Amino acid sequence: MSKGYCYDVIVVGGGPAGAFFAYEMIQKHPEKKILLIERGKRVENRICPEKKEGKCLKCRPHCNITNGFSGAGAFSDGKLSLYNPEDDDFYVGGNLHKYVGVDETKKLVDYTDEVYLKFGATDKKEGVKNRSKVAKIRKTAENVGVELINIPIRHLGTDKAHDLYRKIEEYLEKNGITILFESEVTDLIVENNKVKGVMYCTKSGENTCAQAPKVIIAVGRVGADWLLNMCAKHNIKSSPAVIDVGVRYELPDEVMSEINEYLYEGKFIGKPNPFNDKVRTFCQNPSGFVSTEVYDGGLTLVNGHSAKDEKSQNTNLALLVSMNLRDVADPMEYSRNIARNMNALGGGNVLVQRLADLKAGKRTWEDELKSNSVEPTLKSAMAGDVSLAMPYREMTDILMFIDLMDKIIPGFANPDNLIYGPELKFYSNKVDLSKSFETSIEGLHAIGDGCGLTRGLMMASASGIQLARKLYD
Ligand SMILES: Cc1cc2nc3c(=O)[nH]c(=O)nc-3n(C[C@H](O)[C@H](O)[C@H](O)COP(=O)(O)OP(=O)(O)OC[C@H]3O[C@@H](n4cnc5c(N)ncnc54)[C@H](O)[C@@H]3O)c2cc1C
Repeated sequence: MSKGYCYDVIVVGGGPAGAFFAYEMIQKHPEKKILLIERGKRVENRICPEKKEGKCLKCRPHCNITNGFSGAGAFSDGKLSLYNPEDDDFYVGGNLHKYVGVDETKKLVDYTDEVYLKFGATDKKEGVKNRSKVAKIRKTAENVGVELINIPIRHLGTDKAHDLYRKIEEYLEKNGITILFESEVTDLIVENNKVKGVMYCTKSGENTCAQAPKVIIAVGRVGADWLLNMCAKHNIKSSPAVIDVGVRYELPDEVMSEINEYLYEGKFIGKPNPFNDKVRTFCQNPSGFVSTEVYDGGLTLVNGHSAKDEKSQNTNLALLVSMNLRDVADPMEYSRNIARNMNALGGGNVLVQRLADLKAGKRTWEDELKSNSVEPTLKSAMAGDVSLAMPYREMTDILMFIDLMDKIIPGFANPDNLIYGPELKFYSNKVDLSKSFETSIEGLHAIGDGCGLTRGLMMASASGIQLARKLYD
């Protein structure tokens, strides 16, 4: 260990990025002393009370859906996005390939995938059969100016993902990684532009510090606000990035049957009139459930997942508008304001509205939902009017896109389909990183979704592996 330090490396955040970093350090540098600090609970102790209670209890101090070992991965749908060998670029998952190169990223994804398989991921890949059927859907989409991206997916299912990450947690601890749970890193220790360690608050409320010459920030979207503050406080170079603003859309499996069967997850991208903003479908969950996630400051956002064993009769997916607000100092504040307003209308909950009502300019009432042919799977969502809080531009983008999608998938714009809001992605701060993901502070590295490097389980995990390989190069 380096002289004067208690650890060689401190990892902040035990999501897929931090966990896979630790895994690969065991393979490459078993002699290094590593401390991983995670503000949430052990994965086996993470329980979301919403299902039992029928409403989101806004767990304190942190939401169990997004915090705890394996981060947002534990309750995520566990769709591991792979790649098509013939593709010469990566179309989903963020920017890792821009640092590593496309061919190297493919090898990295293969390796990461093997690790997932080793810990119990299914060997079945979705979206690889029925090529001619997929080509037909792609053609129909192209005819209305929409692009279809089809990449193979390995689907763990929320319940299986939980189990898989528990095995990884066990493996890390058995192999010498010290993990502090329910402990929150409050500050970085930086001297003369070099990182020296972190300040953190333990489960019992004690404020203390740990020192190491290398600190890895892997705080995810849930820690993006904290990272933004750290960037301002310690002069870590970063820049505003594109933000995603949107809704979760729920419709009958019957309407989505072809996409669900041939692709499992169809990634459609369009630029509808009149604004030509990029609008896309994201995180599709056949026979799934709409869910919530609570962020710092108590903002309740919508998301979705599907389990391996428990099925609904609905498919849900996100409809996201990418907004380029790079000239705005804090684009995240723009997103937060949308969430605040929508939460205020929903009494602290997510809002839900029938598509027909949204188009007709009227709110949806609770008893109208009861007789709606599409039954909402998120019981805590409050019937209301999403358009009262969604900016005109994004609302128009979403409605125009739904109409385009209806030409590809008849029934996509059925009046009883449901819109939940807000769905926002907090990765609008992009930290300046070197090829080894080092920030402008010596010894301080950043990986995963929180720093704007990746989006999604596979790439966040792969970024951790890549950093472990490059840290001592
Ligand atoms: C409901 C849901 C479904 C999803 N479904 C999918 C899917 O099917 N496929 C897919 O690819 N992606 C999915 N995602 C996204 C995926 O989960 C994330 O892309 C991935 O988890 C990012 O990994 P990460 O390690 O970068 O960050 P995270 O998983 O967010 O982990 C960050 C960790 O850091 C901890 N942390 C934050 N700040 C601090 C601090 N100051 N001190 C200590 N600890 C801290 C947090 O508690 C958290 O555990 C889903 C997300 C959600 C919420």
